[in-house]
Amino acid sequence: MSNDPKTQDIYAAIDKAVNNPNLTGALGRFSEAYVVSRAKVYEGVDFEGLRKAIGTARQYVADHLEEVAETFKKNAEARGAKVFIARSAKEAKDYITNLALEKGVKSIVKSKSMASEEIHLNEHLAKHGITAEETDLGEWIIQLAGQKPSHMVMPAIHLTKEEVSDIFSKEVHERLTSDIPRLVKVARKELREKFFRAEMGISGANIAIAETGSILLVTNEGNARLVTTLPKIHVVLVGMEKLVQSYMDAAPILHALPRSATSQLLTSYVSLITGPTKTEDGTMKELHIVLMDNKRSEMARDPKFKQAFNCIRCASCLNVCPVYRLVGGHVFGYVYTGGIGTILTAWFNELKTSQDIQGLCIQCGKCKEICPGGIDIPGLILEIRHRLTANQGLPFIQKAALKVINNRPVFHAMLRAAYLGQKMFEKEGYIRHLPMFLSPLAEYRSLPTIAKESFREVFKKIKQPKGRVKAAFFAGCATEFVFPKVGEAIVKILNKAGIEVIFPEGQTCCGIPHWGSGAFDMAAMSAEQNLKALLDNDVQYIVTGCASCATALKKEWAHILKDQGKSSLAADAEKLAAKTYIFSELVKKMIDEKRLTPKDTKKIMSFTYHDSCHAKRHCGVYKEPREVLQSVGYELKEMFECDTCCGMGGSYTVKQPTLSMRMLQRKLKNIEDTGADVVGVECPGCLIQIGGGLDKAKSKIKAKHIAELLVDKFE
Ligand code: SF4
Ligand code: SF4
Repeated sequence: MSNDPKTQDIYAAIDKAVNNPNLTGALGRFSEAYVVSRAKVYEGVDFEGLRKAIGTARQYVADHLEEVAETFKKNAEARGAKVFIARSAKEAKDYITNLALEKGVKSIVKSKSMASEEIHLNEHLAKHGITAEETDLGEWIIQLAGQKPSHMVMPAIHLTKEEVSDIFSKEVHERLTSDIPRLVKVARKELREKFFRAEMGISGANIAIAETGSILLVTNEGNARLVTTLPKIHVVLVGMEKLVQSYMDAAPILHALPRSATSQLLTSYVSLITGPTKTEDGTMKELHIVLMDNKRSEMARDPKFKQAFNCIRCASCLNVCPVYRLVGGHVFGYVYTGGIGTILTAWFNELKTSQDIQGLCIQCGKCKEICPGGIDIPGLILEIRHRLTANQGLPFIQKAALKVINNRPVFHAMLRAAYLGQKMFEKEGYIRHLPMFLSPLAEYRSLPTIAKESFREVFKKIKQPKGRVKAAFFAGCATEFVFPKVGEAIVKILNKAGIEVIFPEGQTCCGIPHWGSGAFDMAAMSAEQNLKALLDNDVQYIVTGCASCATALKKEWAHILKDQGKSSLAADAEKLAAKTYIFSELVKKMIDEKRLTPKDTKKIMSFTYHDSCHAKRHCGVYKEPREVLQSVGYELKEMFECDTCCGMGGSYTVKQPTLSMRMLQRKLKNIEDTGADVVGVECPGCLIQIGGGLDKAKSKIKAKHIAELLVDKFE
């Protein structure tokens, strides 16, 4: 497999990564520990307030980039620094290389700088006979190994101590053990000599403060202090997005960065450099600051992507990403990795360089939840998907499939045919094996069968009470064609609460599959068609038992219609969103209003609960299903990582089967570990994935939609 991103086969790279136990073991352990330590260090901190302050400071810079850069330049130069604004990677490389050549520099020491990785500075200097040595321990390790960083903060996280001892042994020509203190001592001794020898030091910067022309560095190893003080020439290479206007604006970043990056209150060293200082022989040092644009100003002008300026490069989005945890950083091909890496790669290179890696994101939203910059990382990845789709169109089969999903009569007819065809493979409501090229579909999870009768046919047979309170039921594709029993249970429970349920016949797919594929125009057509069907009814509530559909109704229809320039329809979508409920939300409300009464509350059986990504992070619904199930007598046995994605993600299971399977395996283990009798879900997609996985694994635990668990539990 090639490591060159231009020739790397993404699927081969994924296979290689997931089958590397050192990588997956290290990342798995780290991600588990990180969540705990980060939560602890943020205790008592107003995270939302911090996010807001970072966002305000950085968006000011994005909106006034040239002005803030000029202020920085003027103030830094007034204090004796030389500031060069490099518009491109080439200009930045040429400036630093020419400076080194002009000053007769042969040896450079560097502290960690992602900007220098971004422009491949070391390789460029080497071509001119100049050696640049990394001095951050992780960076030095990967430099010796001839690799690229796999993580923004911990560049060598993918390597074990045994691998590091092999790398060091080669360097010092001595067989070393994997004893970490001994390895650190070796590194310290080797690096110290390089510091004394170097004629130039190159550092990055975590923050560049315009009001004084200062740069601020947060580090833990102390190497940056030596890089910036010992050599007579110090060059700072810093991306323009690191600018802030004032110290007040730097404060929230300094507050969040160590907490988010390394779960520390503060790093061991915080260095503030304002202008050059004297060297020990009394002469002045030279301080050069290269403020690098390299498409950042273009990004700042893009109304959607300018929010990427809020990134403080803490890498917490990588640490919680279920995909990054499986594949590490090298699969992303370029310097920046994970979800934010996908976005930065698309900008700092070209849009099409993110073609393969954007497909790694399952849109679970974990990164968005934790990002101190408040960046909608999955939303921006979708925007990349959308722009790629707009440029080159969808693959023919995908486009045809999405069109069919929206055409209810055709979709229905096709599923009828599939229902008849599935009979020879079906057993006990599952398809456990499929022939030939279809076999991978049922390899790691059994598939549910298509129901004999669709929900709309079933619904006609449920006699509705005539009531004052009415609700329109939005079924969604999986409930309509695969799990009509779930729909039936929902309707019966609402009836118990005295609600008359209406099923608007004009409803179709919610559009989430189209939206998730980047086909925003098709998603808008779905939204429009559904709005017409739903708004035709005079009802108090719209209810759905599908968390993904709920996300579409509550959030995405208005968003997508606005995006497509249909603002009056978007206003209608907002009105509809205000009365839309996920099933458990409405049941909780009915119980609270005493319109639903649990039969009795003696213990029934134990349950664990899987939070769907859409319910938890898009709709904020996670307490309600637990409370409702407990209120009728189920005993909760909470599972580890209850809100981590199960690996379903719609077509993700087909496009990324290896990753989908690994995520499912982890979820199944977490479910089994609870020893619960049943696992409750509120998303038919998760029901397909988890239910099928449990069936394939011949588990005693069954997956059930919570409506099925509640259907006969009310007076
Ligand atoms: S996107 Fe957010 S979480 Fe990720 S590195 Fe940037 S600031 Fe940190
Ligand atoms: S949305 Fe989920 S899969 Fe996508 S980048 Fe964020 S954490 Fe990773």
